[in-house]
Amino acid sequence: MAMRIINEKYINSLLAKEKAPSEKSALAVIRKALRRKGLSLEEAAVLINAKGIEKKLFDAAARVKKEIYGERVVFFAPLYASDYCVNDCKYCSFHVSNKLFTRKQLTMQDLRRQINILINMGHKRTLLEFGEHPVKCNIDYVIDVINTIYSVKNPKGNIRRINVNIAPTTVKNYRRLKKANIGTYQLFQETYHRPTYKKLHKGLKRNYNRQITAHIKAFKAGIDDFGIGVLFGLYDWRFEVLSLVSHAQYLDKNLGVGPHTISVPRFRPAPTVNYRPEYPVSDKDFLKIIAILRLSVPYTGMILSTRETPAIRRAAFKIGISQASAASVTSVGGYGIKRKEKQFRISDERPLGEVIMSLLDDNMLPSFCTACYRLGRTGHDFMDMAKPGAIQNFCRPNGLMTFAEYLEDFAVGSVYRKGYKVIKHYLNQIKDKSVRNKTKERLLRIKQGIRDLYF
Ligand code: SAM
Ligand code: SF4
Repeated sequence: MAMRIINEKYINSLLAKEKAPSEKSALAVIRKALRRKGLSLEEAAVLINAKGIEKKLFDAAARVKKEIYGERVVFFAPLYASDYCVNDCKYCSFHVSNKLFTRKQLTMQDLRRQINILINMGHKRTLLEFGEHPVKCNIDYVIDVINTIYSVKNPKGNIRRINVNIAPTTVKNYRRLKKANIGTYQLFQETYHRPTYKKLHKGLKRNYNRQITAHIKAFKAGIDDFGIGVLFGLYDWRFEVLSLVSHAQYLDKNLGVGPHTISVPRFRPAPTVNYRPEYPVSDKDFLKIIAILRLSVPYTGMILSTRETPAIRRAAFKIGISQASAASVTSVGGYGIKRKEKQFRISDERPLGEVIMSLLDDNMLPSFCTACYRLGRTGHDFMDMAKPGAIQNFCRPNGLMTFAEYLEDFAVGSVYRKGYKVIKHYLNQIKDKSVRNKTKERLLRIKQGIRDLYF
């Protein structure tokens, strides 16, 4: 099966065949992409190798992003629960041969403290992160963590959606995750290039096929909302981008549901890690990657983390990113307490309010929406709306309402004023009169203290 998901020979042959496409053929592909039906691998290869078309590429990606997802960027924060790990991934500081770290796993009491900090910042979504340790960090622990997070409620709110990033597991365990009400199950292939994968991984994660078939196993267990990703820098980005598209197309074709999200982490220096990427990705190529993915798999959400600088994030939000972490820490228990045991160093250390302000400066809408999965709009239902661009009819009103909650509960001064200006602007752009009026009325109720309203 793994061979059918990623056919290395075929991918390489496409990259070779389209090595120097003409500007004319690249522009034809961009025109086709504007129809928002996605691109074939061959067409994606044309964009990957095309030169001198960046401006047109970025403009098209920005347009497709706007037409499908609108102007919103949904925020979340990662939460590291346990850094015990049996694997020896060369790029990650949680690798088992790192004897310099004091390992930590959150107790339920630690966890409540961490979650309260996230809630008090304004977050409503978290992405749970775990090292792989079948004994120390087994499925019972993972389920306890999820249940505990959902149980924490304080006067500033609660976490309404938990996405999970854990190592591949059994169908039985995935069923338990589904039952615990997770949002997206995320797992990155790191690199789709088999020889590189082998070179960089030791331990249970060394099994390439186990990693690449995990989403299919999760789907069998009822998880129809999953995310894929590559750690850029490990291998040639051109190969990785085509592989991501190939993986997404395989899942869509065979499960009837494509990936809900594609993540684009780029390697960052990390304590105790001597590895240096053999294929570093420049900022210019990184933005190209985002734009090409946006055009190739237009219905998929795209996630950007604080691995990137504020300047890159600003550019990336415009051309394709629909979800972003903010005010993150990458160590276990690191919210509120500085810990040196970080998984990697981040590049955007701004507090949430500052990230929000820069989004408002670009007339974009910060969102804390968690509506879709709570209303069961996942899998086929989500795809049916995302593919034609109808998801915006929910994203915009829900974005406006959750952002108004944020403004009422956390913002002061210029963020508050500017925030409501942006809300007014996009409220007037809701085309359906009845939805516009309902949103208007709900925004008033939010001002009066009512919370958690959504469509
Ligand atoms: N242990 C699980 C796994 O390996 O699938 C959970 C993932 S880990 C906590 C989250 C992700 O961080 C990894 O999948 C990897 O892509 C990324 N990561 C690890 N080391 C990194 C580094 N030095 N720079 C940037 N991202 C890194
Ligand atoms: Fe462990 Fe995941 Fe880090 Fe690899 S990337 S060492 S599996 S935490």
